Amino acid sequence: MGLKLFNTLSRSVQEFAPLDLESKRVGMYCCGPTVYDFAHIGNWRTFVFGDLVRRYLEFKGYAVQHVMNITDVEDKIIKRVRESRAPLSDFTGKFEAAFFEDLKSLNCRLPHQTPRATEHIGPIIELIQKLLDKGIAYRAADGSIYFSIEKYRSAGRQYGQLVKLNFDEMRVGERVRSDEYAKEAVADFALWKARVPEDGEVFWPSPWGEGRPGWHIECSAMSMEILGPSFDLHVGGEDLMFPHHEDEIAQSEGAALQPPGQRFVRHWLHGAHLMVEGKKMAKSLGNFFTLRDLLAKSFSGREIRYLLLTAHYRETFNFTMDGLQSARQSLARLDECLARLREVTGQTKAAEDASLVSNFSEKLDDDLNVSGAWGSIFEWVREMNRRLADRSLDSSAAASALAAWERIDSVLAVGASTEVVAPPEIQALLEARQAARKAKDFKKADEIRAELKVKGWVIEDTPKGPRLRPG
Ligand code: AMP
Ligand code: ZN
Repeated sequence: MGLKLFNTLSRSVQEFAPLDLESKRVGMYCCGPTVYDFAHIGNWRTFVFGDLVRRYLEFKGYAVQHVMNITDVEDKIIKRVRESRAPLSDFTGKFEAAFFEDLKSLNCRLPHQTPRATEHIGPIIELIQKLLDKGIAYRAADGSIYFSIEKYRSAGRQYGQLVKLNFDEMRVGERVRSDEYAKEAVADFALWKARVPEDGEVFWPSPWGEGRPGWHIECSAMSMEILGPSFDLHVGGEDLMFPHHEDEIAQSEGAALQPPGQRFVRHWLHGAHLMVEGKKMAKSLGNFFTLRDLLAKSFSGREIRYLLLTAHYRETFNFTMDGLQSARQSLARLDECLARLREVTGQTKAAEDASLVSNFSEKLDDDLNVSGAWGSIFEWVREMNRRLADRSLDSSAAASALAAWERIDSVLAVGASTEVVAPPEIQALLEARQAARKAKDFKKADEIRAELKVKGWVIEDTPKGPRLRPG
């Protein structure tokens, strides 16, 4: 069955059809992090969603070229650079490195290309020049270059492809310099911002004088440079629909580099936001979490990834600490079942159980219905547990079940393929407990078991010796 995805352009669920159907190649661009701070758990919802899209396309046999930009110059960064007094690349380098570490903690596949805006100033300037040559961009008195919405529309183009806009309220030629603005403030937006004293040392030479790019032009230039002027998929959080993505379309289609009849992007995918305990996440409300905050509370990357992958991407997701605790329990249930299947399987190899895989892909084909997929996975866990309990599962059936799980986990990436490895201090406690048991000091052994429990680990005594699992 074919994959269906909601396309923000058509506001409907559509069959996913890449430009190059035959080669099954897919070009996919995800708006990446603005590296001015550690990425928060809301950002991670969107990045993990992008990883799910990529992994599922790969599961379906597509050869995905996954590009994620690093926004390393824009308004918020310049403000922080000014405050920190550090050079731009020292400041952004720290958060960029942290971003890549976090990506790994959450088991996201590394994008094939992660272009930095500051390393694409050449293509950015070229694209702005094309818009100037077409008369769609113009130079303001201070040397900044703006995109003219009026000229773009009178060239027969549509501004407002992803969101509905009210042009009656708009005054022609009114301008907005900042990178972020609301729908109500729709106006000519900055492509190139002439240098001002507040920019400090952050500027580049250009044919129009010293300055720096606007945020929106960065993504148009980098995506088209790497994926070509027309590509398959563009992913981001719902807040990016306007103005960021609308402006990306305007700049890219305004330059008219696409072959006739082709759009800049065929499918736009937007992930809904994450809230925390029912509220918009904000530092002032004390409900703001970076990934690191949660890891420091001893939750693992896979528990967080699992939780982020439990809800449909188009539904606002309410993140709670209780939810994270239940994620831990659900994964423990899954791990338990997988560990027992591995024991029964031994060295046996078998072809994957087709029904688990087809149930899974039937759900994901339906606009990435992950909650439905988890429903069938836990149904399967119950069935496996029942068969393990009444010993009606032979080694080949167990191997076939495990092979199916591994196939679907190539998409979910939450299954510990081997047992979860406890940190050294926890392993040391387990060894001390074994030594106490050997010395028949059962009181001490029980105390250590209780200490491990407090630290979040449960000992299971199996025929192959004691095993630790989070719990
Ligand atoms: P930024 O680093 O601010 O450019 O954001 C990176 C990505 O995170 C973008 O795709 C945003 O749309 C997304 N994002 C920002 N806040 C949230 C949130 N609360 N929930 C989900 N995604 C978010
Ligand atoms: Zn972008």
